[in-house]
Amino acid sequence: MDRLIEGYRRFRATTYRSNSQLYDDLATKGQKPSTLIIGCSDARVDPAINFDTAPGEVFMVRNVAAVVPPYTPDGGQHGTSAALEFGVKGLTVPNIAILGHAKCGGIKALVESDPNGPAKTDFIDSWMSVAAPARKVAFARAESEMKEGDLPHVCRLCEMANVRIGLANLRTFPWIAEREAKGEIKLHGLYFDITKGELFKLNELNEFEKVATE
Ligand SMILES: [Zn+2]
Repeated sequence: MDRLIEGYRRFRATTYRSNSQLYDDLATKGQKPSTLIIGCSDARVDPAINFDTAPGEVFMVRNVAAVVPPYTPDGGQHGTSAALEFGVKGLTVPNIAILGHAKCGGIKALVESDPNGPAKTDFIDSWMSVAAPARKVAFARAESEMKEGDLPHVCRLCEMANVRIGLANLRTFPWIAEREAKGEIKLHGLYFDITKGELFKLNELNEFEKVATE
């Protein structure tokens, strides 16, 4: 905790001081983020650092494995869906991005799990079951590539499939689908590879394309 407090003091003396007008505006006028990002809780993939964002620029939702559940208004406690509702209806964000990443522990657990076996965790298995279709897609693709036993490769395929399925699930939210149809909101799929510091973006062909660094 001491390191965090020290970091806070540095932030206060530098970033906060040099952006005092911006912080003042954000405090008085409220937030108007340009993008809602759904990312993983993984400590190595911090969207604010990776995208070098300014305060107030991104409305961030982080959960295990950057999973987006389908629209299920059943009275349950849906944290990610609540954040989506607030970001879309309350803040009218013009962009939603799902940020998958390499070496994702949640996806690895899903890939290694037995889909028909009993849950081994209180919450994680149930949460990751939302991404079960991505596991299926990944194994099918690995099989077609004759790389079925290559676990890291299956995980990478699953991490990417999870982003595509998350985008499909976003479109099950009627107020997202309506806004997308009207051109008021754009959905994006992103994938960050920590091993090389590379960012990939889903293109019109639904394939991940490396983003140029210059
Ligand atoms: Zn992760």
